[in-house]
Amino acid sequence: MSDSQPKPRVDAVIVGAGLAGLYQLHRLRELGSTARVIEAGGDIGGTWYWNRYPGARCDVESLSYSYSFSPELEQEWTWTEKYPTQPEILRYINHVADRFGLRDGITFNTRVASAVYDEATKRWRVDTDTGESIDAQFVIMATGCLSMSKTPEVPGVDRFEGPTYHTGHWPHEGVDFTGQRLGVIGTGSSGIQSIPKFAEQASELTVFQRTANFAMPAGNRPLEDSEISEMKDNYREWRKAQKESGFGVPVPEATHSALEVSEQERNAKYQAGWDKGNLVAIMTAYTDTLTDKAANDTAAEFVRFKIRETVQDPEVAEALSPDSHPMGTKRPCLDSGYYETFNSEHVHLVDLRKTPLVEITEKGVRTSEQDYEFDSIVFATGFDAMTGTLAAIDIRGKDGVELKEKWNEGPRTYLGIAIAGFPNLFTITGPSSPSVLSNMMVSIEQHVDWITDCISYLRQRQLAEIDATVEAEDGWVAHVEEVGNYTLYPTADSWYMGSNVPGKPRVFMAYIGGVGVYRQKCDEVAAKDYEGFSLSA
Ligand code: NAP
Repeated sequence: MSDSQPKPRVDAVIVGAGLAGLYQLHRLRELGSTARVIEAGGDIGGTWYWNRYPGARCDVESLSYSYSFSPELEQEWTWTEKYPTQPEILRYINHVADRFGLRDGITFNTRVASAVYDEATKRWRVDTDTGESIDAQFVIMATGCLSMSKTPEVPGVDRFEGPTYHTGHWPHEGVDFTGQRLGVIGTGSSGIQSIPKFAEQASELTVFQRTANFAMPAGNRPLEDSEISEMKDNYREWRKAQKESGFGVPVPEATHSALEVSEQERNAKYQAGWDKGNLVAIMTAYTDTLTDKAANDTAAEFVRFKIRETVQDPEVAEALSPDSHPMGTKRPCLDSGYYETFNSEHVHLVDLRKTPLVEITEKGVRTSEQDYEFDSIVFATGFDAMTGTLAAIDIRGKDGVELKEKWNEGPRTYLGIAIAGFPNLFTITGPSSPSVLSNMMVSIEQHVDWITDCISYLRQRQLAEIDATVEAEDGWVAHVEEVGNYTLYPTADSWYMGSNVPGKPRVFMAYIGGVGVYRQKCDEVAAKDYEGFSLSA
């Protein structure tokens, strides 16, 4: 579009039509604002649109992984299983979009290529890869934390002659691996969920593991009618508890150090969490599980014992037992038969710590020790998390500063919502907010509500611009780091730390202060007329 043509003018461009973008559109419409959602995918759903690999489920229970903003929606939607499958979550998202009439506000199959702030008009010019240019007062990034997938950093990724797949971009029509020799690289959440499913089809399945991860059985099952109606009767109380909790998943507060109780008492408590299939229950069973290595070791050893108990071949059990990071400091997983899968004769584990991955070849995978031939390869190798998607858009704020330049040494934000020098730009569940360390639904709703209130505040006072101050941003960055350093998280090479992407700065990119505490801080900022921001007419 040439500069002389009039651009569509809206109050806000929302980037992404996942759970965050849809709710943001709904809230802005309620406010009477005009908004356009730009979505790269062919339909709504975000993460749940792309991640369709077999076995994909959410690790937060169905009854908690849902919007809380509409009591009517809560009552009319009925989840079927303890943990929701990807297809069921996608059905839910579609139901929400239809119920609240959101589809007409979304442009699909379109990427935002750039967003440039004009200091004279105090508005953003947003350009898409389809050649459209939109004039907006606000840009709201609802781009998700794990949306830019990555393949392994070894030569030859494009050389393999057979088909390759990434769990984060799974073909919509599904894939049948029946009778195939299949190689899978990666044992994070996506690998751990999909590997048992792949083993049901492949004639030979070889799993390449660089880091053994902690997983525990999800204990998934159909929901009882009585549990559903009990939750529906008590949703308001439950939502309040979610909002005030540490991780957006209410669990009883720990009262003791893991080191001040007997081994017997400890293991009974871990066993109870294990039986419930509740990750948060184990990770927060004691006050110091995430802050003290010795305390953490007690939980880690409990899981390693379970692995040894489940996996018949002691050498394989040893290789599957995580020992390179404290439990929880890389995202732990819920599984359905993961460790049991390695008891099948046609399933093989390759420990890349002993025999590193060298390259992908025409026929398969080469390690330092051996060549493996496959019919297909699956990359379950994760994402350039938290910042990758934002850095891929050419975002320029005041004085033409590029966001990716500003974030050269790691992301800097105020509250994970705003970025100094990038006025009127908001990041839903952005870096340095609780985001990935929480039930995303709780954090998404909190951010969307905060942003909507902020936009309403500006409108009422006829203010054109809100920008975080550098001082407030510096203070928040320091606080996030300080709280992070109090925990074991920075000791691990995890995607939380950016360590899964070569060359990415090593910075802890989430706020571990807890969603309840964080919400209070955000509310205080708003109550003090947006303390830490400069506002102008
Ligand atoms: P991930 O946790 O980053 O796991 C990627 C795996 O690939 C890791 O085992 C990693 O090893 C391996 N890998 C990456 N690059 C490699 C290389 N060059 N050579 C060898 N191995 C390599 O990614 P993910 O499993 O897709 O999960 C990402 C996040 O998405 C999760 O942590 C979770 O937050 C979310 N998720 C949630 C669910 C759920 O709720 N159920 C399901 C799926 C994903 P290293 O560990 O050594 O780097």
